[in-house]
Amino acid sequence: MKHNLDILPLKSWLDTGNEPLIIAGPCSAETEEQMLGTAHLLANTGKVSVLRAGIWKPRTRPGEFEGIGSIGLEWLLRAKEETGLKVTTEVATAKHVEEALKAGVDILWVGARSTANPFTVQEIADALKGVDIPVLVKNPINPDLALWVGALERINRAGVRKLGAIHRGFSSYEKSAFRNEPMWDLAIQLKTLLPELPVINDPSHICGNRELIPYISQKAFDMDMQGLIVESHIDPSVAWTDAKQQLTPEALSEMISHLTLRKPDSNNPIFEDKLSKFREEIDTLDDKVIKILGDRMRVVEQIGQYKRENNVTILQVNRWDEIIQKRSNLAKALKLDTDFTVKLLELIHNESIRKQNEIMNEKPVAEA
Ligand code: PEP
Ligand code: MN
Repeated sequence: MKHNLDILPLKSWLDTGNEPLIIAGPCSAETEEQMLGTAHLLANTGKVSVLRAGIWKPRTRPGEFEGIGSIGLEWLLRAKEETGLKVTTEVATAKHVEEALKAGVDILWVGARSTANPFTVQEIADALKGVDIPVLVKNPINPDLALWVGALERINRAGVRKLGAIHRGFSSYEKSAFRNEPMWDLAIQLKTLLPELPVINDPSHICGNRELIPYISQKAFDMDMQGLIVESHIDPSVAWTDAKQQLTPEALSEMISHLTLRKPDSNNPIFEDKLSKFREEIDTLDDKVIKILGDRMRVVEQIGQYKRENNVTILQVNRWDEIIQKRSNLAKALKLDTDFTVKLLELIHNESIRKQNEIMNEKPVAEA
């Protein structure tokens, strides 16, 4: 399937100069003081260009704080007036879109739970028809790239050309150090599929705790993402939602100043020249690896024939143990990671078994 979005470059609607886009603010708008206090501290860091706050909160269980509602929009807009920061909030229904637009919110975002539901996304898209406002689409809760792309397409088809994606990690059954598994490969696939689409990272909802946020933020920049959306609260210890993952504006500023920004390309011709030499070297080596794998499979075919003629089983466990042992020792001596080597050998071995199986079970060619 062809994926085409008709979008405008990020720089044309949100110019942050040479700096990455940083969106920051509390998980939820709680009180006017919390909102304004946080906004001023964030603006004073000089590193933040957009203020975020959830007005309507999607919560797992009823009875938890469901967001302050429309009054929070007034606080958000007051924060904008006083600080000059642009403001953004999550919309999950046509009514939210209507209210946010009426209040003068600059950017809207679609939350992970909404992206997972095409009915909801379509309702939001319909409410956005003919409106010129930037929209950021979070990945769906479940690791499904097509749902993410589908949501971006629905919003784009409504005429929204100022579009971006937010990578906030995916729900996973397995317990891990993260609240939501980053599954970087899905974000990379999205970037590959839609190279023109700006993608930013939400380390707060990936981590679920403060400690891992610098690590994930750095990794996001290393993956060439264009910015971050980070939860920041004037006093995280008393936050009404997501208290464990919010940073004070001061800690956020400190974290950002320690991040290393790398460029995907360089304008330096010497650098480019040297890089292309390395790449040529890699290409030559990759060709050799493929050629050697081809040679290996030819020998496997001969073994298959031979075993067939002698009625011997395909799998001989001792032989396999010996291969793993010897090659792992060599790999170790060559400073290759053992885990990587074993995985690679297993992949090759599985293909060899498949090939031998094919040969063993080949129907004999009928004699002419
Ligand atoms: C949020 O950003 O506060 C939020 C609810 O995020 P998500 O939709 O990623 O869970
Ligand atoms: Mn949150």
